[in-house]
Parts: sequence; structure tokens; C-alpha cells
Amino acid sequence: QRELEPIAERIDADEEYPFDNIKKLAQLGITGITIPEEYGGSGGTHVDWCIALEEIARACAATASILDTSWGLCAHCINAFGNEEQKKRLLVPLAKGEMIGAFGLTEPNHGSDIAQLDTLAVKDGDSYVLNGTKTFISNGAQADVLVIFAAKDKTSGYKGQSAFLVEKGTPGFSIGQKFHRLGIRGAHNAELLFEDCRIPAENLLGEEGRGFSIALATLDSARIGVAAIAVGIARAALEASIEHAKTREQYGQAIANFQALQWMMADMATG
Ligand SMILES: Cc1cc2nc3c(=O)[nH]c(=O)nc-3n(C[C@H](O)[C@H](O)[C@H](O)COP(=O)(O)OP(=O)(O)OC[C@H]3O[C@@H](n4cnc5c(N)ncnc54)[C@H](O)[C@@H]3O)c2cc1C
Repeated sequence: QRELEPIAERIDADEEYPFDNIKKLAQLGITGITIPEEYGGSGGTHVDWCIALEEIARACAATASILDTSWGLCAHCINAFGNEEQKKRLLVPLAKGEMIGAFGLTEPNHGSDIAQLDTLAVKDGDSYVLNGTKTFISNGAQADVLVIFAAKDKTSGYKGQSAFLVEKGTPGFSIGQKFHRLGIRGAHNAELLFEDCRIPAENLLGEEGRGFSIALATLDSARIGVAAIAVGIARAALEASIEHAKTREQYGQAIANFQALQWMMADMATG
């Protein structure tokens, strides 16, 4: 609250991605909360994670959203489905906040309906070659590692999907359009372009053909984090309302004395 809240308005107005906030939170161990101790985290529970997200969102919702994407989605997915080598290579720097993660599922033609993806990953020797476009990907332009979902062909449906780890700077991977948001503007979304992007076969995350269930399982747990962020924002709004109502005077008294406003704040507190 002391560090994040005073600069939250500037971050929002300037659409500034708050790298410094992430660094400070990493120093406190927040980025490692749910990562097991053997990979540099503190092995906390999902409840611990949600409590942290709620408190951070109360001060700066953009910072909390970035955290939930990088650690609630990407790191969680690697922890749940990665092999030992992937966890050592990626979870350790993620836990320390030395890496930021992203999760690329949505495509221009596939938002809610992700059973058949247009992005393809075709096996070629000891590599996969990715072609396609992902859109609206949180942390997309900032991430050092991205979990990307792709299909083996245009007809195999959800059974043909797999999850892959793509690292920043991989040839054939670039950032397309960057989107401007209406709110929580310090968190950024971008389009990801894959043009003959060749990744080593060992970057397959989990089993081939299991991408769809990996995506759904990961989204299930990250959605709780989104709810925690919403609670944090609502708490901040309630606290600001109470403070304003107690100090703002109209008709010779604090507006908090007017019952109509008390009802509104009671609804905010209980609703
Ligand atoms: C802030 C933000 C961050 C995001 N970050 C990421 C990210 O990091 N990674 C990622 O992969 N994606 C991300 N997304 C994309 C998000 O996952 C998609 O927006 C979402 O899946 C919905 O897809 P869509 O926007 O294409 O909507 P559509 O699928 O086009 O849906 C449009 C509307 O139709 C409704 N609808 C669709 N199907 C049905 C149905 N069968 N019955 C009734 N109603 C229906 C939907 O509820 C919605 O209201 C993000 C989106 C937002 C807003």
C-alpha cells in the first residue's frame, strides 16, 4: 500500500508497465509464493496467492493482473505440467522475478471457442515449427517465457492441441499490434506472431495432444486469482468512498450522515 498505491494513478494514466513494482514484490518473495521450495519459491497455497493478489490489487490492479498472468497462469502451468528440466530452467528464475511469463491461447478467430486453433505446431525432426497469431495476450510483449497452445493440423480439434514453451528472442517469434485498454492500463496486451518459429522438441510442455486439458486446468486455477483481484479493487473503492464521505461536507455536515449514501456503502460492503 505504501509503495504501490502512490504511483498507481500515474501507471494507469501513462500506460506504464510497472517493472519496478514487480522487482520490489520479487524481493519480498511474492513471485515465488506458489512455486515449490525446490525451485526457489516458498511452496505456498493458492489461498496464500489470492490473499497477496487481493492486497496488491487494492493498491495497484495493473501490478496484480501482471502477477496473476505471469505466476498464476504461466508459472503455475509449468509447475503443474513441466518436466524436471523445464522446471529447473524456468521456475527458478520465475520464482525470483528474474523472468516474466505469459500464456497464449486466444487467437483472432478463437476466443471462447478454442476447440480448434488456427496456430499450428508441426513436428520436424527434433523441433516443432509454429505458425499463427495469438491475440490479446497479457504480458505478451514483456514476457521472457510464454506458454503457447497450438494444434498439429486444422482438423484434429481439441485432441490435436499441445502446449509449448517459447522463449523471448526465438527467431520467427515477434510482437504484432499492442492494444490500448480502457482500464487497468499498466497491464499490457499484445498480438504474438509466429512465422516458421522453430523451437526444440524438448519445449513441448506436458504430453503431445494434451494442450486443451492443460489450458482448461490452468485457466480454472487462474480465474480464482482474477476474483481475488476484483475483491481487492472493490475493497479499495469502498475504503475510498468511506474516506470521502467522512470528509466531504454538504449542507453543513459530512455526506456520510446522509442515509442514502450509507445504504450505497453498505451495499458495497456486503454485496
Ligand atoms: C484483460 C484481458 C486479458 C486477456 N489476457 C489473455 C491472455 O493472457 N491469454 C489469452 O490467451 N487470452 C487472453 N485474453 C483473451 C480472453 O481469453 C478472450 O477475450 C476470451 O476468451 C473471450 O474471447 P473473445 O474476446 O474472442 O470473445 P468471443 O468468444 O468472441 O465472445 C463474445 C461474446 O459472446 C459470448 N459467447 C461466446 N460463446 C457463447 C455461447 N456459446 N453462448 C453464449 N454466449 C457466448 C461471450 O461470453 C462474449 O460475451 C484476455 C482478455 C482480456 C479482456
